[in-house]
Amino acid sequence: MVLTIDAGGTTIKYAVLDQNGAVISSGSAPTKKGDAFLPQLRGIIEEMRGKSFSETTGGGSFSFDQVAIAVPGPSKEKTILKSVALELENVSLEGLTDLPFIMTNDSTAAIFGGWRAAGSPKTPFVGFTLGTGVGGGMLINGTMVTGVTSSAGEFGHMSIDADGPACGCGNRGCLERYVGWKDLVSQAQALGLMVRDGKDLFNSVDPRAQELWDWVGHKIGFAVSNIIWAVNPSHVLLTGGVARAFSRFEKTLREEISRRVIPALRDGVQIYANLDEHLAHQGLLALTLSVLK
Ligand SMILES: [Zn+2]
Repeated sequence: MVLTIDAGGTTIKYAVLDQNGAVISSGSAPTKKGDAFLPQLRGIIEEMRGKSFSETTGGGSFSFDQVAIAVPGPSKEKTILKSVALELENVSLEGLTDLPFIMTNDSTAAIFGGWRAAGSPKTPFVGFTLGTGVGGGMLINGTMVTGVTSSAGEFGHMSIDADGPACGCGNRGCLERYVGWKDLVSQAQALGLMVRDGKDLFNSVDPRAQELWDWVGHKIGFAVSNIIWAVNPSHVLLTGGVARAFSRFEKTLREEISRRVIPALRDGVQIYANLDEHLAHQGLLALTLSVLK
């Protein structure tokens, strides 16, 4: 069994999975940032280690013997190079636990989980993670493209307007500044919509909310078009909290792609949402099984 930990900027989610991907136990807590992050990670590992779980198949009870951790931002091996969301820079996770463990980017984990759920295609597979932050990842010939610092597929920081608003990454007009939850909710409030968070915006029946979702479809469609031109993929997966509203922005997203991409590239591509909340955990499990054996 593997303990998988997905450390997001807001919430840290953890789950123990058996070899087949069945979720045996799971939990979550608000993420502690900066110096408090490593003690929180250690606490979760120790807490979950104190429990024993029954395998779904076969008898007896076992605890997990491997750990896999996903963090937002670039990393190299077991060092977090920089994570704006976790307020960390150059922090090594070496010595975190005596169990074998791997660490990867959170978007990489989610896209890898989505690729497995799609039947592990060998054709180019691209995914966008749409949440508080916007990220992504891609597999070519069934291999995750990681880049030198685990940062390939950072689609959220692709500029969709050269002179657009400044982003925390230093670039301007990043996709994340338009369709990340924080900016979306601010925009909705500026339009006079009474929404407190993404859930409210998702559920709003106000016509102005639908107009905003239509606009989101155009923006994401613009970004997806660029990626289709660059990669010529068979699949474009959308996942994360904003993707829950896929049915609300799907129409304008497809219109935008039809306007920008020729049929030879766009006709064969499947564009869809996968809203499995354990996608990152499934990806971490699969990565663990392939890396640690
Ligand atoms: Zn950016």
